[in-house]
Amino acid sequence: MKTIEREVIVVGAGPGGSACAAYLARAGVDVLLLDKEIWPRDKPCGDGQTARAIPHIKELGFFDEFASKGFMSQGSLWTAPNHSTIEFPAGGGYCTPRRIFDDEVRHTAMRFGAEMIENAWVYDVILEDGFVKGVKAKINGEYLELRSKLVVGADGSHSLIAQKIGMFHDTDENACVVGRCYVQVDPKDFAGKVEIHLDKDVMPGYVWIFPERNNIVNLGLGFQRSLYNKSTGVKTLQETLRKWIEESPFGKPVRGKKWIGEFRGWRIPNDMGVDRKDNYVNGCMLIGDAASLIVPFSGEGVGPAMDSALIVSDVAQTALKKNDFSGEVLKEYKTRYDEKNVQPVMMAWKMNAMLANQDAVNAMFLPENRQKLAAAMGIAHHI
Ligand SMILES: Cc1cc2nc3c(=O)[nH]c(=O)nc-3n(C[C@H](O)[C@H](O)[C@H](O)COP(=O)(O)OP(=O)(O)OC[C@H]3O[C@@H](n4cnc5c(N)ncnc54)[C@H](O)[C@@H]3O)c2cc1C
Repeated sequence: MKTIEREVIVVGAGPGGSACAAYLARAGVDVLLLDKEIWPRDKPCGDGQTARAIPHIKELGFFDEFASKGFMSQGSLWTAPNHSTIEFPAGGGYCTPRRIFDDEVRHTAMRFGAEMIENAWVYDVILEDGFVKGVKAKINGEYLELRSKLVVGADGSHSLIAQKIGMFHDTDENACVVGRCYVQVDPKDFAGKVEIHLDKDVMPGYVWIFPERNNIVNLGLGFQRSLYNKSTGVKTLQETLRKWIEESPFGKPVRGKKWIGEFRGWRIPNDMGVDRKDNYVNGCMLIGDAASLIVPFSGEGVGPAMDSALIVSDVAQTALKKNDFSGEVLKEYKTRYDEKNVQPVMMAWKMNAMLANQDAVNAMFLPENRQKLAAAMGIAHHI
């Protein structure tokens, strides 16, 4: 079997993996980025790049290119199960199709010197003496061993790397089902705001309409997988979305409109990894969805993926300097990520539980509670 050797291998070229490869390559690290897809590729998403992702886009130097292709949010409209509404001013975020956005981040990594191989399906890790020492991959039909001092698992919500190192958990309580399609709207029916509809049929969860360029909107919904049971009567994502379009007064802009392309569903790991797992073992760290870093309730995951990418890049550089890739050195990643995230995540978890109750949600829309709602839902990070 042919063998390749590098300092760091990053598996997965989503915003997490590509940002990590970009930060590493910029620091002079010899980094190889692998992805199983042929690029540019699509990724089911609301396509929202929140105010938490923007600093990374600026720091990595592709903001102008990005902004010229995206749609800057004009503020947001939130609706409650009893149809009361709240509007918030724009939070500085954008909506850009992931096919475009992810490709920008990937090209940025390559500009900094990261080598990228597409059509590279990683199917195992190389484990020796208790350390991850690389990955096994099928690349363009050829089986290869790719060795490295460190592996970064950035392979998304169904992460093979997380599974191989024993850090993949999947229960109906810690996973959400989420899906989206695209619709062309008439601008006279739609104000171009980010819309979040806390509808009774999807609680805790929501239907969204996110505006993109040329009067296209990203229309989707998501909820905890445990809602799929007889007592709630929740059916498939598509059926639930079609019901909302027909029955909700807020469905008007997308009612009777043909969906562009296919409706695509996905899994969101909704346990945030704060108490559940460390996201590192000897020789390996997980980031983004592979590390379950999605913010509970909002489902925001691009910003957390890029935040974790930056920290992992720093910690990897420390490990390379010390020539020590043990968990003892890599644990700094968890410490640094948790410092900023444990508190807001715990708050989001509490909100998530509360958002299963219609009366409680309606109460949050009362004028005296709106500031609390904004804070709890992380409007600061939202689009
Ligand atoms: C419907 C939906 C709507 C969402 N809306 C938003 C939103 O509006 N804003 C937001 O911030 N977040 C949103 N999220 C969450 C967001 O999409 C994720 O958090 C984000 O994509 C995580 O980035 P990542 O780099 O960790 O993983 P990904 O973007 O999933 O990238 C993982 C990459 O790994 C590759 N890969 C996987 N397995 C292998 C393998 N075995 N070998 C090689 N390569 C592999 C994949 O091809 C992929 O390119 C949404 C999620 C869904 C499902």
